[in-house]
Amino acid sequence: MSESPAVPEKIVTCPQCKGDSVYSPRNAYRPFCSERCKNLDLGAWASESFRVPAPEQLADDTPSRHLQ
Ligand SMILES: [Zn+2]
Repeated sequence: MSESPAVPEKIVTCPQCKGDSVYSPRNAYRPFCSERCKNLDLGAWASESFRVPAPEQLADDTPSRHLQ
């Protein structure tokens, strides 16, 4: 008579704080350990994409340089 959980919980490393994070449906922020870590990661990603101006777009119509 043992009670086992329907979904086994897996512990993964939180990409933000490198701590333990429960990877299961009850953790809405997985693979992050908490809402805070998820928001921090999204914030870093967003600010990075804003910082990089993507200069390659200027040379987008250049014919493939690899042919010659
Ligand atoms: Zn975390």
